[in-house]
Amino acid sequence: MKALIAGGGIGGVTAALCLIEAGIGVELYERTSVFSEIGAGIQISPNGVKVLERLGLREELDAVAFRPEALEMRLGPSGLRIFSIPMRDEAVRRYGAPYYHVHRADLMSILSKALRTRLTSAVHMNKEVQGYAQIGDSVTLTFTDNTRVQGDVLIGADGIHSAIRTQMLGAMPARFTGNVAWRVVVPASSLPKNLVPPTACVWVGPGRHAVTYYLRRGERVNFVGVVERDGWQGESWTERGDKADLTADFKGWAKPVTSIIEQATDCYRWALFDRDPLEEWCRGRVTLLGDACHPMLPFLAQGAVMSIEDAWVLSRQLKKTTDIPAALKAYEAARKPRTSKVQRGARSQMGLYHKRGLGAQLATFGPMWLAARAMPSFVHTRNDWLYSFDVTA
Ligand SMILES: Cc1cc2nc3c(=O)[nH]c(=O)nc-3n(C[C@H](O)[C@H](O)[C@H](O)COP(=O)(O)OP(=O)(O)OC[C@H]3O[C@@H](n4cnc5c(N)ncnc54)[C@H](O)[C@@H]3O)c2cc1C
Repeated sequence: MKALIAGGGIGGVTAALCLIEAGIGVELYERTSVFSEIGAGIQISPNGVKVLERLGLREELDAVAFRPEALEMRLGPSGLRIFSIPMRDEAVRRYGAPYYHVHRADLMSILSKALRTRLTSAVHMNKEVQGYAQIGDSVTLTFTDNTRVQGDVLIGADGIHSAIRTQMLGAMPARFTGNVAWRVVVPASSLPKNLVPPTACVWVGPGRHAVTYYLRRGERVNFVGVVERDGWQGESWTERGDKADLTADFKGWAKPVTSIIEQATDCYRWALFDRDPLEEWCRGRVTLLGDACHPMLPFLAQGAVMSIEDAWVLSRQLKKTTDIPAALKAYEAARKPRTSKVQRGARSQMGLYHKRGLGAQLATFGPMWLAARAMPSFVHTRNDWLYSFDVTA
């Protein structure tokens, strides 16, 4: 069997590794000239790490990652801690794998190096996919350079603006969520020692929130700030923003947040868009994976992790049978309930973090504060459905 993969992001490259591990032939086509990722952090929770571990990448990840002591929520302006869920050793004990904070470029480098080492000939850069055709028992993929290739199955891992999805299902407009996100990475050495908590910390406030965490074994600090804004803006990760605007957005917030912003040299911002779960993901010998089929808001930090889970499940379904359309249907059936739940869960976090007014804040965060002290184990169990899941089991 020969699988064609369109797109070499985290999802596409992980899918290639999973397929190779399953003994399936792979050809991956990426439109850029090098595998690259933006300069920002990413959280890989235990459910994703379990797949990367099965691919033999745990040691390399350990070498570049930061393992947070806890997942916590604090009030943005005062810094008051609402709850803290232990995660460093607890992740391994409770979920069977660590919780990692990784620089996206480091993760991409580990994945792409593994792919080139395992099957150099599988990687085709500078190949922009234009469309596909299914004829008989094969799929033909066409490129903008007027070349074409043939395979048995096509996986569209070409991200949120997927050309494969557009051909399969038509254009799908996205909704602007009314939120703009800032991202910044600064050297930890530029900040007072221990100022930023060694956790995955969500700082909540009226109409905005921020997330802070360490990267590269503690050498860098990652900041994401999400602010409600009117108007429709481009869905790009690489638009530079004005530091004065970012400073104004978080004026008066706790020192860890404002100190990171003070140290920022490059600030990027982009608008957050949302899409509903798709009705279907596959037609015949063509399927979708990752953001191409379930783009989600980043508020549960699961977009890439879901693509990693997808990759494993898809490879196991294809390994089991020679009936490719049936394998793709089984993959979709296995994945859709979970990814749809995560998509909706991420959306519901948005309203939770941005409560305005003392009354709404007390009604939301007061019970959380109490529960964290009276029933800490209950607070912990809220993440179990997500992190204890093991697609490799
Ligand atoms: C602010 C923010 C924070 C986030 N934090 C987290 C987090 O902590 N944890 C987490 O799990 N997720 C997180 N995510 C989500 C995560 O970044 C995405 O879900 C993930 O990158 C999707 O991977 P993908 O491979 O499906 O798509 P992409 O990363 O978009 O990769 C698609 C690839 O396809 C290529 N491509 C596109 N079109 C073509 C074409 N026509 N031909 C050939 N190649 C093509 C692109 O160049 C790209 O390399 C976050 C997202 C945001 C916005």
